[in-house]
Amino acid sequence: MKILVINCGSSSLKYQLLDMEGEKLLAKGLCERIGIDGHLTHKPQNGRPVFNEDVPMPTHTEAIAAVLEKLTSPEYGVVESMSEIGAVGHRVVHGGEKFACSVRIDDAVMDALAECIPLAPLHNPANITGINACKAVMGDVPQVAVFDTAFHQTMPGKAFMYPIPYSYYTDLKVRRYGFHGTSHRYVSKRAAEMMGKPIEELKLISCHMGNGSSICAIDGGKSVDTSMGFTPIAGLPMGTRCGDIDVSILEYLSANTGKNIKELTTILNKMSGVLGVSGVSSDFRDLDVAANQGNDRARLALDMFHYAVAKTVGSYVAAMNGVDGIIFTAGIGENSATTRAEICKYLTYLGIEICPECNKKRGEDIFISTEDSKVKVMVIPTNEELVIARDTRDIVEGL
Ligand code: AMP
Repeated sequence: MKILVINCGSSSLKYQLLDMEGEKLLAKGLCERIGIDGHLTHKPQNGRPVFNEDVPMPTHTEAIAAVLEKLTSPEYGVVESMSEIGAVGHRVVHGGEKFACSVRIDDAVMDALAECIPLAPLHNPANITGINACKAVMGDVPQVAVFDTAFHQTMPGKAFMYPIPYSYYTDLKVRRYGFHGTSHRYVSKRAAEMMGKPIEELKLISCHMGNGSSICAIDGGKSVDTSMGFTPIAGLPMGTRCGDIDVSILEYLSANTGKNIKELTTILNKMSGVLGVSGVSSDFRDLDVAANQGNDRARLALDMFHYAVAKTVGSYVAAMNGVDGIIFTAGIGENSATTRAEICKYLTYLGIEICPECNKKRGEDIFISTEDSKVKVMVIPTNEELVIARDTRDIVEGL
């Protein structure tokens, strides 16, 4: 079965077409500036040329139509016709408490997704738009929703509740949801395979460190705690997001800057994190360069990030009363040997020993801890699209 994986943003749409026989990537691409003018980058994996041009995309429907046109075109295509695409899998950011696993999309699911809009006002409307656009262009092809939040629905109350009046949970659904669930699920399963043990017997900590970063404690294959919260702003300092800060800062800043809560929340989401502290960049590559040239604020921002990751890992070791394996993944986790080494310096008390040579490798599933290390440390490139495609296939074939 060939499966189209879609990740829809408000003005963008990322896609991959996978052949599930051999789990082979056939093509991938990106639609940008949807609703503004429109640009399509389409990369077939069969040796045909890359398409990288402006294409008018007034809405997501034209974007999907353009993607399908390229996937089936004689010049850039990878399939003969749309009928070869057996199903579509969508990344959906928020499934609230309704969805603890992936589901086939029907009218009831669409209603439930709409109910989750207040929980993810920027993301869920885009996901819904993407689903509707696929329906408009592809008709009855089965569609599946795979949620960022679903993996974390196994967290116990003591981990997901906030210590605020209970009615805010019951009436307004305020609780920790957690995100990056598809990534944490994928890398923890891979880690168990690499360690040669059933996941049910393992305590793992997964560090997804990219533009957005979150850490997850996974006990016996189930998420038991995670650092992102009600929204993805919580937990670690990130590229531009502040992570955990004292909530009273909002009132204090409002009183002293004249900015309202909405304006301040935008600053905490878009101008904070390592960008806010360093004043240099949200990209860790730029921070490395600046810090090595003697920029103290860039060094401080990096130090704060390493410290926050190490503290969170330590708290999850306590939460699970132990840890067998620690995983690094996503843009920073997969590529920055220095970041991994700096974080692991804090973790020698766990009996962790890093092999500097292994830590230099990139782009593969590897152990970066020594044979003797009491806790295994791994780098596992994440593959959320593959999880979405697998779930989609399993659900559609199970019908
Ligand atoms: P992601 O959100 O997973 O795509 O991660 C993107 C982020 O990964 C970028 O903003 C960079 O901060 C970071 N990144 C990518 N490559 C490197 C690298 N070689 N060294 C440090 N950070 C990197």
